[in-house]
Amino acid sequence: MAQYLRAMKDESPNRPDLHKLAVNVTGCANYLVFHDYYTVDQLRLVKARTCKKSLLCAFCAARRAAKLVDRYLGTVERVLASEPALRPVMVTLTVKNGESLRERFRHLKRAFMKLQQHRRDQINGRGYTEFSKVKGSIYSYEFTKSEKGWHPHIHMVVLVSNWFDQKALSKEWQAITGDSFIVDVRRISTTTENDLASGMLEVFKYALKFSDLSLPDTWHAYQILNSRRLMGSFGNLRGVKSPESLLDDPLEHLPYLELLYVFVPRSGSYDLRTTKIMDPDDPLTLPSYQASKGTADPPFSISTRIKSPRTHSFRPADR
Ligand SMILES: [Zn+2]
Repeated sequence: MAQYLRAMKDESPNRPDLHKLAVNVTGCANYLVFHDYYTVDQLRLVKARTCKKSLLCAFCAARRAAKLVDRYLGTVERVLASEPALRPVMVTLTVKNGESLRERFRHLKRAFMKLQQHRRDQINGRGYTEFSKVKGSIYSYEFTKSEKGWHPHIHMVVLVSNWFDQKALSKEWQAITGDSFIVDVRRISTTTENDLASGMLEVFKYALKFSDLSLPDTWHAYQILNSRRLMGSFGNLRGVKSPESLLDDPLEHLPYLELLYVFVPRSGSYDLRTTKIMDPDDPLTLPSYQASKGTADPPFSISTRIKSPRTHSFRPADR
């Protein structure tokens, strides 16, 4: 993508905004500093330059997802602990594919707003909707494209008081959208924290599937969606916001192994440059450096809350 942006910038010398964007995306993640807190088995990305253009940059999209899962998993767990009768469920709402991303996105957004309005109406004593079983939700939009055109959909983690009548919900969605009855509903197991975290990662992962989209399509989607709000929440999960920083907070008073990775454009991969052992509570201990050679995949942490899979290989081709 960075290469595509640089080519566009060269073709349009009178677009300083394109120049700035190309510089930011090209420089994103050109170095990564991880702290491996080996005594507590936690890996944190503590320093990096990030472009924060998660609709253009696979690295920032993955980091954003990790931060959101880390932040909001606790919120969902707290609500479930205080209201144990509620059950977490994954819901996906879709509309029919179409040629215009702008029109399809607007259509899905309006349909979803209508469904939420039906829920509020019932709370205020008017009408009935299956969606009233939802007591809280965290959701985000995702956009894919196939031969049949753009396919926007909404992924949600919802907390329900009773199981949905899926047929009734599907019928309701068809009446609202006029073109789609597709409502996918899946229970989220609460046996382990991992199941809930994986469900949340499904919601917060990439708004665009970079591997499935051509570079011109990615750029087209960015221009239409960049200033739009693509995630939200309501009910007892209200309050989700995009993370300001894509880095992790360091842990205090714990020894760690510091790993510095530098991106080498010529080889298209990362070099692990140095590792050093640090013990912040022992100032007399000098850091023990070790120069490292050769290329290596950074131990890119998807989320400190998800133990398996703990790492996600970050390919420079994503850039
Ligand atoms: Zn980035």
